[in-house]
Amino acid sequence: MAKDNDCIFCKLANGDIPTNLLYENDLAAAFADANPQAPVHVLVVPKDHYANIIDGIPADVLAAMVDAVDHVARERGLDKAGFRTIMNTGEAAGQTVNHVHMHILGGTSLGEGLL
Ligand code: 5GP
Ligand code: ZN
Repeated sequence: MAKDNDCIFCKLANGDIPTNLLYENDLAAAFADANPQAPVHVLVVPKDHYANIIDGIPADVLAAMVDAVDHVARERGLDKAGFRTIMNTGEAAGQTVNHVHMHILGGTSLGEGLL
């Protein structure tokens, strides 16, 4: 899998659009959500383009995304307090950017419910 030249998250994750990467490894990157829904709202994305979680993401890329979650959570002090990860897939879930991304939400009590 490769980059998609029309994809904003490909550009952000690979530095083609300058952004403050909160963490990166060889295969994944983390940056702040532009429209935060919690005191901490970070997106973790693979550097290669995959549309969603069922787009054949290789195991090493998934592992790299989890590594990024681990680093961001600890760096933001969420590891003890707890946090939420969400991956929206498709229209019914409200996915608006078709480059797979994991939301990390924390820094407050997130409550219970559907999620
Ligand atoms: P989705 O609804 O697809 O799960 O989430 C997409 C998320 O991407 C939204 O929370 C939205 O605020 C965020 N987002 C969309 N465009 C950009 C952007 O250009 N930069 C950043 N940092 N976040 C974005
Ligand atoms: Zn992409």
